[in-house]
Amino acid sequence: MTIKVAINGYGTIGKRVADAVAAQPDMEIVGVSKTSMNAEAYIAKDRGYPLFIADITKRPDFENAGVPVAGTVVEMIKKADVVVDATPGGVGLKNKPMYEEHKVRAIYQGGEKHTTTGFSFNSSVNYAEAKDRQFTRVVSCNTTGLVRIIHEMDKDFGVEMVRAVMVRRASDPGDIKRGPVDAIVLDPVTLPSHHGPDVQSVLHHIKITTAAMIVPTTFMHMHVLQMTLKQPATRERVLELIEAHPRLGLVRKPAGIASTAQLREHMSDLNRPRSDMWENGIFEESVSVVENELWLFQAIHQEADVVVENVDAIRAMCSDVPAEESVRMTNEALGFVAVK
Ligand code: NAD
Repeated sequence: MTIKVAINGYGTIGKRVADAVAAQPDMEIVGVSKTSMNAEAYIAKDRGYPLFIADITKRPDFENAGVPVAGTVVEMIKKADVVVDATPGGVGLKNKPMYEEHKVRAIYQGGEKHTTTGFSFNSSVNYAEAKDRQFTRVVSCNTTGLVRIIHEMDKDFGVEMVRAVMVRRASDPGDIKRGPVDAIVLDPVTLPSHHGPDVQSVLHHIKITTAAMIVPTTFMHMHVLQMTLKQPATRERVLELIEAHPRLGLVRKPAGIASTAQLREHMSDLNRPRSDMWENGIFEESVSVVENELWLFQAIHQEADVVVENVDAIRAMCSDVPAEESVRMTNEALGFVAVK
């Protein structure tokens, strides 16, 4: 059976999820939606995705620009087994009554609160629990990156406590509305940042404190992560676990990469679409174990890591494919060659 997927909100995340879904052998795009005409509407047309619009009175704006409109968002969701809601944070909650009325499953993004769905998803942790739910939330880019590595360490050593500092990009590369231009903004000045509690929406038992600041860059966040482990660990074992995980990438010493700028160049050299890095970029040289303390730096591509999780969430909710197989299928369909 092919899973019919609609993307409500064809922006930074939505357009990436659409391409990732279209690449899967067991899924098809039945439509994508937008609010207003812009360059992304031309891309949807070029890709062959039927384009639906939230406000049908705007149909002439699209059609006069040469982009056919297939109908309204309600017409789109009626064709779908599942909707990926990638509208801006807060809009998804407003869309919920529409999904309820039409009895269609929906996957929300990290801009929505955990309470919107009561279930927050990561394919490495709780894939099987998504089965037959109407609503699931794929946690934010930072939380996805934290959950992947914390859970992997927790399974092997047990995690006593996590302390993490997130150095966050100010805006996405294509976003012209946000700053800062010349500042480091504490996000927020109080502790913890929202990331710690958000990690606990997936890993309920993990003790974690987080702090965050925003810097004037656009490509990737950088995490400084420290975990106190319950069992003694070795650096070799930690590296072995990272290498074996399909979504934890190791940035190796000989690559000479020590910045987000070089990582972006490397993603582009790997011919990744839009230079996307779907996995955590863990810097091999930073991985340090002192007694039961583990330290590492990891880069997280804000626009990309949640994309593969959305694809797995679709399978988790709508099929009997098990977690490991879904992750393998998702990665393979994207030609996912790991960072070096
Ligand atoms: P975006 O602004 O790039 O895209 C949102 C799209 O939704 C736009 O195309 C907009 O026209 C459309 N839209 C707005 N209202 C709509 C409506 N009522 N119906 C249909 N379409 C509508 O936003 P984004 O960055 O892709 O973020 C989407 C979600 O993903 C948010 O919850 C965000 O927090 C989350 N997220 C974003 C990032 C990131 O780095 N950009 C990372 C992880 C998660």
